[in-house]
Amino acid sequence: MPKIEDVEQARSHIQGIIHKTPILQSRSIQEKWGRRVFFKAEHLQKTGSFKIRGAANAVINAVSGGATLVTAASSGNHGQAVAYIAAELGISSIIVVPTDASPAKVAAIQAYGGRVEYCGTTSAERIPRAKSLAHEMSGVYIPPYDHCDIIAGQGTVGLEILEQMPDADVIVVPVGGGGLISGILTAVKARRPDVLVIGAEPALANDTALSLERGEITAIGPTETIADGLRTSQPGDLTFPVVNELLDGLVLVEEQEIIEAMRDIAMRTKQLVEPSGAVAPAAVMSGKAGTADQTIIAVTSGGNVDLQRFAELVNIAETE
Ligand SMILES: *Cc1c(COP(=O)(O)O)cnc(C)c1O
Repeated sequence: MPKIEDVEQARSHIQGIIHKTPILQSRSIQEKWGRRVFFKAEHLQKTGSFKIRGAANAVINAVSGGATLVTAASSGNHGQAVAYIAAELGISSIIVVPTDASPAKVAAIQAYGGRVEYCGTTSAERIPRAKSLAHEMSGVYIPPYDHCDIIAGQGTVGLEILEQMPDADVIVVPVGGGGLISGILTAVKARRPDVLVIGAEPALANDTALSLERGEITAIGPTETIADGLRTSQPGDLTFPVVNELLDGLVLVEEQEIIEAMRDIAMRTKQLVEPSGAVAPAAVMSGKAGTADQTIIAVTSGGNVDLQRFAELVNIAETE
């Protein structure tokens, strides 16, 4: 299991590379939602999501070990983060994406300096390809969440929240593969065990909820949740034990609630948050995480959504 020392070491490694993101507050949202809620603005992080924290820590360690190439299997935020940090450190990256990856995402990876390789449509095809490319070319494969360096890097979000919000009662965190929440749990439960950490998952991608219920890693089938960063089929071998031992609660949010939270945040704070980044706020908005007498910090984990998609989603919210 990752330890607080790993998170502290990650912080010293990535400090000069990442942004210390602000905590945002909106009176208007606090009134509408009836909650003293604040947002930890990782949608303003470099590359548009917190993924750069874990990726930077893992790639820095790979470079210290002599690597001159890293690979990843992701057309989303992890792929962009690995491409960005590899270029920043002066090494090459190959990002394996599905054959149907959106041109905008591919262009973003290329703009950061990553080489794009197409392979299949499922992660079961992409991951082995990314691993074998790394193997053939003496590079290092960088996984999206189930790795100690990644968990420790994501945990730096937790250290920052505790410093920025010493009166925090509850931290609400989106859960995909569980890298972000297991990192935050590692930091928060070592430093401030009294602060509650609550996970938020889309009801359509409830693999962690099911796994917690059964006490063992449980997979779900393919899901179409709009929160595309949370579509992982099961929690990780390293992340699940942390979540299972330390988590204070997990809540499920509906698609419509995610859209409404995106809309409220755009209208009232003028911030653009992607669907995955609105899952923790949606849990607060719907009253499922946090109560009226608590100081709540919801992590807005990413902001990578194109405007056309954003407009389509928000229009759904308006017409219903
Ligand atoms: C990856 C991602 C998540 C989920 O993180 P995990 O570490 O996989 O649980 C949440 N939000 C955004 C924006 C992401 O990119």
